Amino acid sequence: MSQLLKDKNTLVLGLANRWSIAYAISKAFRREGANLILTYQGDRQKDTVEELAEELGASRILSCDVTQEADIRHLSEILLAEGEQLDAVVHSIAFANREDLARPFSDTSREGFLLAHEVSCYSLVAVARAVAPAMVAGGSIMTLSYLGSQRVITNYNVMGVAKAALEASVRYLAADLGPKNIRVNAISAGPIKTASARGIKDFSTILEFVAEKAPLRRNAEPAEVADTAVFLAGNLGRGVTGNVIYVDAGYQIMGY
Ligand code: NAD
Repeated sequence: MSQLLKDKNTLVLGLANRWSIAYAISKAFRREGANLILTYQGDRQKDTVEELAEELGASRILSCDVTQEADIRHLSEILLAEGEQLDAVVHSIAFANREDLARPFSDTSREGFLLAHEVSCYSLVAVARAVAPAMVAGGSIMTLSYLGSQRVITNYNVMGVAKAALEASVRYLAADLGPKNIRVNAISAGPIKTASARGIKDFSTILEFVAEKAPLRRNAEPAEVADTAVFLAGNLGRGVTGNVIYVDAGYQIMGY
């Protein structure tokens, strides 16, 4: 079968380790023939991401902490200086203070609320603004969301509120960038064991519950999320923008 992303230039933000959803997406992008640029959050991650970048055959890695405006500007400058058009961008980034994912939502501090929204939501807006000028022939931007944006999920708390804002941002960005043929979507992934997920109190209980109740009677796999990312990044997804696509073994449809 021919490769779905042959020679497409792609940028993936949010790969921290082998368990990251961004890792599964990067692997799938390479399998489909894409060129890959990766970012890492800061010096603490550099060595690991360098190693994974080599394994994945990424063409370049760049430092980008999304709370740093200078880092985002630098990313934009580098992409434009490369002179190559950018085709797809994956935003796979979120953060909230651990204590805010373990106590009643009403106890969320102002700082904790703002931090979660800055890293998990505003960063998509900032990244979209930075990369759009390099998407000269149109392109696809995608982010990762979770059902906690729509429903109350125990301990997901402020992250659920940030994901709701993220999904709304996807719609506004899709409307803004659509005339440039840049599509913006979210993949709402089912629960997956990653470093971030481990920060949510009793996360394993969510995994067990979903596996029991979801129509497919299991949790979604990172590779399934990644294949949906391939669809959105390439020509097959050309008519899809402003959407939230669930890759969750069907869990989100279930009532009693
Ligand atoms: P992960 O911990 O592997 O990835 C989170 C990434 O966010 C890390 O690479 C981290 O470095 C990055 N990040 C945090 N703060 C940052 C900052 N200031 N600047 C730059 N990068 C920063 O975990 P993951 O589960 O792969 O998470 C990726 C995305 O998927 C997140 O948006 C998460 O909410 C979403 N998601 C995860 C699940 C799940 O169950 N794991 C389900 C649905 C959605």
